[in-house]
Amino acid sequence: MRKLFSVFLLFLMTISASAKEKQIKPMKEFVDELLSKMTIEEKIGQLNLQVAGDITTGSPQDTEVRGIIAEGNMGGIFNLKGTELIRSLQKIAVEKTRLGIPLIVGMDVIHGYETIFPIPIALSCSWDTAAIRQVARISAVEATADGINWVFSPMVDIALDPRWGRMAEGSGEDPYLGSAIAEAYVKGYQREKSVQGSEIYAIDEAMVSVKHFALYGASEAGRDYNLVDMSHIRMYNQYFPPYKAALDAGAGSFMSAFNLIDGYHATACPWLLTDVLRKQWNFNGFVVTDYGAIGEMPTNGFGDLKHCSAISLKAGTDMDMCSRGYVTTMLQSLKDGTVTEEQINTACRRVLEAKYKLGLFHDPYRYLNPKRRATDIYTDANRKISRDIAPETFVLLKNDNNLLPLKKEGKIALIGPLANDRKNIAGTWCVAYTPERYPTIKEGMEKALKGKAELLYAQGSNLTRDEALQKAAEFGKNISRGDDEQMKTEALRIAKEADVIVCAMGECADFTGESSSRAMLEMPDVQRELLEELVKIGKPIVLLNFSGRSTVMTWEQEHIPAIMNVWFAGSEAGDAIADVLFGEKSPSGKLTTTFPQVEGQIPLYYNHIATGRPVPENADKYYKYRSNYLDVRNDPLYPFGYGLSYASFEYSDPVVSDKTDKSFKVSCTVRNTSNRDADEIVQMYIHDIACTVSRPVKELKGFRRIHLKAGESQTVTFDVTEKELGYLDAEGNLVFEPGEFEVMTGPNSRDLKRLKVNL
Ligand code: BGC
Repeated sequence: MRKLFSVFLLFLMTISASAKEKQIKPMKEFVDELLSKMTIEEKIGQLNLQVAGDITTGSPQDTEVRGIIAEGNMGGIFNLKGTELIRSLQKIAVEKTRLGIPLIVGMDVIHGYETIFPIPIALSCSWDTAAIRQVARISAVEATADGINWVFSPMVDIALDPRWGRMAEGSGEDPYLGSAIAEAYVKGYQREKSVQGSEIYAIDEAMVSVKHFALYGASEAGRDYNLVDMSHIRMYNQYFPPYKAALDAGAGSFMSAFNLIDGYHATACPWLLTDVLRKQWNFNGFVVTDYGAIGEMPTNGFGDLKHCSAISLKAGTDMDMCSRGYVTTMLQSLKDGTVTEEQINTACRRVLEAKYKLGLFHDPYRYLNPKRRATDIYTDANRKISRDIAPETFVLLKNDNNLLPLKKEGKIALIGPLANDRKNIAGTWCVAYTPERYPTIKEGMEKALKGKAELLYAQGSNLTRDEALQKAAEFGKNISRGDDEQMKTEALRIAKEADVIVCAMGECADFTGESSSRAMLEMPDVQRELLEELVKIGKPIVLLNFSGRSTVMTWEQEHIPAIMNVWFAGSEAGDAIADVLFGEKSPSGKLTTTFPQVEGQIPLYYNHIATGRPVPENADKYYKYRSNYLDVRNDPLYPFGYGLSYASFEYSDPVVSDKTDKSFKVSCTVRNTSNRDADEIVQMYIHDIACTVSRPVKELKGFRRIHLKAGESQTVTFDVTEKELGYLDAEGNLVFEPGEFEVMTGPNSRDLKRLKVNL
């Protein structure tokens, strides 16, 4: 199968090579030769990355950015759209500079280009690495069709604290699942193996930038851009694995983080960027900073821009995003002797190599074929894939008396600020999106119900009572505002008329994401008040919860009979939600972050380290002198790995076989006990009971998404080896200590069947 895939790729490469590609020398020779011709200023120019700035249209006008390119002071540009515009800039780099070195062109392509897929946290809830790889593949095809050759994705930061809005952009709290997903993204955007020798990318492949290296997801108190401070053993075991997995999958570039590592800025941390990334992990691509990171270092307490630029370069940061620190100070640092020409050469070589791998020296315009837009972007096939994956990301949290799926009959009231919106449902970080084409939930439901049932609609409430908060959260994706009392009255009127109520409520797209930390994670005020009023009517209610993070839903769990987390499901969310509401498809996502009962429990995650004074799992009372709270129990509202289905499943006890002194297999049999075909995500966890360093109470070490027909059973077997049983020490070496282990299998991290194994 793998072989077949490679042959297919080769074929793609051949058919997709552009006509103007010239034959050039192998990479090492080519870059050596080019470097030998470059002045020091030209080399430093390659290390400068900027946004389009004052360029807003495709018309060839004189702007500051065009001038900077013409002076040879820019190596790359990002977050601009369209082949015509990009071509006009590439032309300046190629024709107006002395050596004609083309620009690398980046974008935050995070969960799709114009066809938008569910946000990354949602995608992770599918636990479907093949589907995620396909998402990345399509994203690369669409982005490269429009001139982009470098994507600022995947974001693989482990996040335990849902106050941090960027939980939306990652794959949740687990390093094992996060690693599998990181690998899938890289192999989808780029290709199965990194390019070797004089090989180049196909024109529908983009280079990734794995971000944010490292530990950004551990921002203290969930406040964005805040301090990170942690032990190396925790870094290696809990936070580093997804970065390493992305690297092993062939990632072409890494983006450094904004936070500190051992007191150093991540962008200027030699241990992180050189000792770990390059020496220990053998990374041979380039490192770019995050937006303006070097420019912020003076405020962070590291000295002036010149000094911060020099220490960043020396630590292993090759390209400066938007600080203009390298391009304005590096020459002087060289003269002063604080950096060497060798260090500038090394960074420049890495940037040039990336351009070589992207084929930009073969043909600088190979990603700028305007004809591809019509055939490759927002196609019916791509939209169908987005619509099909969405139900795999929806997490059914509660479904009393099988209220869902709904029947297509009678009167259905659709209520909530997200119900008829097309700008927000796609989610945060959609730089290239075209929301005017995306169906709303109301439109999706109307289409599904046509001729069968009546849909009543009312917005019901503002997003938040406070207009300033709503504006800040919307970040331009406006949801119309009205008088709360009037909107509520209208909603209650249609609710009374209806047989069942569907509420589309929660966060808007940018209530989550970058710079969207929240201290209070409950349903925003006016929306909750409306829900309370709707509950009083006594009709069945389905809550579609929109969020980009774990929110606090304790009240909803108590009062609403059916709750489904739909996150932000992308451009096809409207139809995809209708598919699931009316039972064309079953929701089959499982949580990849823990949902707390109250904010005060945060950080709350399933793979925590054992304490010496634990309380029993699912304790229903307070224990004096034990590790718990007086006023709330330790357990989450919904645990990691949790999610219901329209089907039901039964799990056998785990069975161990093929035991050696370093490995074994563990199996369990899962039966679909319902009369509906559906997918189930089978999970396997390990606990090392006694170890030199205390290990988590459980760690995911295997999972499988399986499809079971009604009544069907399947036995799932996991291989457990030293890798799954061991841990990484503070230097990153794998340590395996034989002894007693607990192995657990089941449908989520809470409801597990356990077995002890001695090795
Ligand atoms: C974000 C990155 C993003 C970059 C470029 C930064 O503010 O942290 O994730 O890739 O901007 O847009």
